[in-house]
Amino acid sequence: MSWASKLANAYKIEDDKSFRLKDHDPADTGDFKSEDHAKKLLKESVARMEHLQDQLYAQNTWALLLIFQAMDAAGKDGAIKHVMSGVNPQGCQVYSFKAPSSEELDHDYLWRTTKCLPERGRIGIFNRSYYEEVLVVRVHPDLLKAQHIPPSLVTKDLWKARFEDIRSFERYLTRNGIVILKFFLNLSKKEQKKRFLARLDQAEKNWKFSAADIHERAFWDDYMNAYEDLIRHTATDEAPWHVLPADNKWFTRIAVAAAIVDTLEGLDLSYPKVSDAKMKELAEARQLLEQKK
Ligand code: ATP
Ligand code: MG
Repeated sequence: MSWASKLANAYKIEDDKSFRLKDHDPADTGDFKSEDHAKKLLKESVARMEHLQDQLYAQNTWALLLIFQAMDAAGKDGAIKHVMSGVNPQGCQVYSFKAPSSEELDHDYLWRTTKCLPERGRIGIFNRSYYEEVLVVRVHPDLLKAQHIPPSLVTKDLWKARFEDIRSFERYLTRNGIVILKFFLNLSKKEQKKRFLARLDQAEKNWKFSAADIHERAFWDDYMNAYEDLIRHTATDEAPWHVLPADNKWFTRIAVAAAIVDTLEGLDLSYPKVSDAKMKELAEARQLLEQKK
């Protein structure tokens, strides 16, 4: 087994009804003794990913959807930036999902994300996703009111129904060749405080600070319960969750890269075979080029 497979598998949750967040240490750094080693491997992984993405694009059959979820300051943006630094921007799109607009609220909750799914041959990245519907909306059920759902459909089984719908939706996507990887960046409450303070202390980080984030922090335990429950219900063989320790950014990044490389390597990627007719065309083109000045 490659190091990437080993690392990816160590944090992969496929189907675990008894999953407990407290068994997962946000400060864990696996077998890595040093940050330098992880950085060197990240560089190699980025190069490997570049090659695999090129094949993904040329083959034009599979698509890869990466979903990032986390508490504020867990490092979603940085992980996306570093891990995808080598890939061809033409074959990759990032979408960030914030509080829904009034147009979006007038549709079913999967509508806005469905429009952003990656085409075949592409990598799509969701920075937050429809999982907010069983996170922020679950922690603040008042948000449901703005969704104009018929009252008779808003029952105590709503969250269970959403899990079921998300599972079915993801099964549908994977059956269509959209491979899904879901990352939960597992940050500790203590490290979040440290990072918020850094945003206040360092002028170049001030812009990242939002008073709303401090407000959400007060609901930490509710969020953790919501995350635990959604992982129990939506981690499946076809769309696993990767619960990645996030107190050390360098570790999160190498773990994300490992999962992507491992997944792409598991696909039957190759460059399309050139047909005999095409080969003839290439030979004729060469002849033409060589004949003329
Ligand atoms: P950053 O703060 O690093 O710019 P972010 O992803 O936290 O990135 P914000 O501008 O803070 O971006 O906005 C995201 C907010 O939108 C989060 O608080 C999130 O919970 C909220 N949000 C996302 N989807 C929904 C949803 N479906 N319903 C309600 N709120 C949502
Ligand atoms: Mg934010």
